Amino acid sequence: MSLFSELKLPVVGAQLSLNRAAVERKSAAWLAQRMTAPDTQFMILADLKLAVSSPPDRSCTDIRWFTLEDIERLKLVGCETIFLGLTATGGSRFCIHASAMGCSGLNSTAEVLRPIVDLRSLATQGAMSNDDLALGAQARALAAWRLNARCCGRCGANTALKDGGWRAECAACGLDVYPRCDPAVIMLVTDGERCLIGHERRFPDKFYSVLAGFLEPGDDIENAVRREVMEETSVRVGRVTYLASQPWPFAHTLMIGCWAEALSTELRLDPAELEGARWVTRDQVAAMLEGRDPDGHTLPGPQSMAHTLLRAFVQDFEGFN
Ligand SMILES: [Zn+2]
Repeated sequence: MSLFSELKLPVVGAQLSLNRAAVERKSAAWLAQRMTAPDTQFMILADLKLAVSSPPDRSCTDIRWFTLEDIERLKLVGCETIFLGLTATGGSRFCIHASAMGCSGLNSTAEVLRPIVDLRSLATQGAMSNDDLALGAQARALAAWRLNARCCGRCGANTALKDGGWRAECAACGLDVYPRCDPAVIMLVTDGERCLIGHERRFPDKFYSVLAGFLEPGDDIENAVRREVMEETSVRVGRVTYLASQPWPFAHTLMIGCWAEALSTELRLDPAELEGARWVTRDQVAAMLEGRDPDGHTLPGPQSMAHTLLRAFVQDFEGFN
């Protein structure tokens, strides 16, 4: 049985529900025509928070879509517009990126836009459908990148958004800057019977997770796994197997999930990275995932790659032996 195809990994941002029209969006004229088409809809990110619609009991949360007339009535000035893509029936979807840094009128319209919510909270709570979450997260990742790419890293001049928000171009030296995506490895380290979990300084009390870290220049995925595990715990890792990936656009990370075979088990922790680490059995992991650990230790929730890796370990999927 294949391993991860059998597991339900929540997806944040990976579903290609829209055609991003990578060729057409290079044309400003085409984008302008799409913006004014009658079937075009806009979402609004206000300081990176998404305007949503939700019944009073908050039983579900959906993206709140606006027409061009709605947008014009809001009188937001200086906002940037990001092209998200085309629906299966050809309708265009855009995001209005309203930030206090570049947009006036935001304070006066904030009341009209409510509820506006933090997408990361929605993702961790599982309170939004995967399709809406993927689209909101895609928009948020582009908008968050834009906030940090307003000036050219080479000459310091202002940059302008191009290609519907998928490229920034320096007005002075012409440097192209593309949306950032930071790959990070997240790995379930196992000696066969047990797996390794760690407690970082920033974690809530008694909360543990699997180890993770960003790729550095010169790393391949396997080396990044072995290096991070060695740096944080002094455990030597042999075989590394890629399992699955998950965009985590808070701000712009790609989580690369791996299984890692431990060649040693003695722990010597880097105190700057980890306050604690433990080897735990499948039964212990199951108890922690299900909230019945006798010491009250907890693990990440079901929307995360860490949860999926730990659940796979408990279920003893092929590859974890
Ligand atoms: Zn420049």
